[in-house]
Amino acid sequence: MLNLSLEHALSLDSADPLRGFRDQFHIPKTAAGKDEIYFCGNSLGLQPKRTADYVGELLTDWQNLGVRGHFEPKHAWLPYHEFLTDPMAKLVGAQNNEVVTMNSLTANLHLMMVSFYRPTATRYKILIEDHAFPSDTYAVASQLKLHGHDPREAMLTIKPREGEELIRAEDLYALIEREGESIALILLPGVQYYTGQVMDFAEITRLGHSKGCMVGFDLAHAVGNIELKLHDWDVDFACWCTYKYLNSGPGSVAGCFVHERHATNRDLPRFAGWWGHDKSTRFQMGPDFQAIPTAEGWQLSNPPVLSLAAIRASLDVFTEAGGMRPLREKAEKLTGYLEALLKAECGSHIAIITPESPAERGCQLSLTVASDQMSGKVLHEKMEAAGITCDWREPNVIRVAPTPLYNSYADAWHFVDILKGLL
Ligand SMILES: *Cc1c(COP(=O)(O)O)cnc(C)c1O
Repeated sequence: MLNLSLEHALSLDSADPLRGFRDQFHIPKTAAGKDEIYFCGNSLGLQPKRTADYVGELLTDWQNLGVRGHFEPKHAWLPYHEFLTDPMAKLVGAQNNEVVTMNSLTANLHLMMVSFYRPTATRYKILIEDHAFPSDTYAVASQLKLHGHDPREAMLTIKPREGEELIRAEDLYALIEREGESIALILLPGVQYYTGQVMDFAEITRLGHSKGCMVGFDLAHAVGNIELKLHDWDVDFACWCTYKYLNSGPGSVAGCFVHERHATNRDLPRFAGWWGHDKSTRFQMGPDFQAIPTAEGWQLSNPPVLSLAAIRASLDVFTEAGGMRPLREKAEKLTGYLEALLKAECGSHIAIITPESPAERGCQLSLTVASDQMSGKVLHEKMEAAGITCDWREPNVIRVAPTPLYNSYADAWHFVDILKGLL
């Protein structure tokens, strides 16, 4: 039997080995001055308290050193992105030569498609999921058009069955089996942004490769949320942003993975810029591009270092927490606890479309409202007014994401208590 008391939630918190990390974050406050119930880390992660110090150090170096800040300070700007490589690689299960922090997510998707969407007369389609995040759909459609294809014909989508919310793995595998010879690129999400569904990366990649397709993933909702093994899964490329579960600030610089077998291939076609040029000869300013034989070879410009400082602060918090294994352990418990409370206390009005199995979801739950009294959108507005921050996604879903770094079991309890009152 589930214990429904607040005391039980508090006892779960006091037994939580990660409980101290909440204090390392700025938690937004309600008008009454209380901590908000912030279940929106899937959209914009909270600010670690140390971020101001890391960014401040950089501002001070710039004040004191001017251009010499590129070389002289402890955290020199010229190699600043390299400070992020090791912790970032660990978060996604990659080797250090497979990861780079650069640009923004959609920009990186385009750069990756320039290299890995290489259509031929018979193999030219791109497979994405129905109801993909709009930026991904626009990026894919524009790449198809760039190569002279009509997205209505060349963009394949995998849909849930009629009347269902989730994509069935067997339907996806059957589509790849059936259409694989004509698919140049499979581009799927790590965690689907609307439903919170996680697909089987290794199996999709294996199957895609067996048909001769390139396989890439958009990890916007996966990185910092679930455990990833990009290298072992043999994924060709992946892209992610750092402002969601990675808590690195609005619009912060994005991450990119290129598997070693491609990253070391200097001859791979790409859009080049001087920051991707071999470091030993970059400043000779010669006319011929020599790619760095790692994922860094896709860099274009010298990066916005202020933003990299915020990422470094956040990655240090992840490292101190012990990486994704302990975070994931807590997330499974915390999300499972929230789910059980919701079913027990609000089950007649709220349905959860996210998969029940922990292996098929991250920390997010997507809720739909089955009530004649109130639409989901109105309920979401009332929740916000009551001190809960979570998000509404058209057409029909309230997304709630308790994150293991700064959310507590008491947050989950208060969330359900408020929701029950509103219903
Ligand atoms: C958040 C998100 C984006 C946002 O793209 P930006 O280029 O960072 O603005 C794109 N795709 C998915 C799947 C996302 O979840």
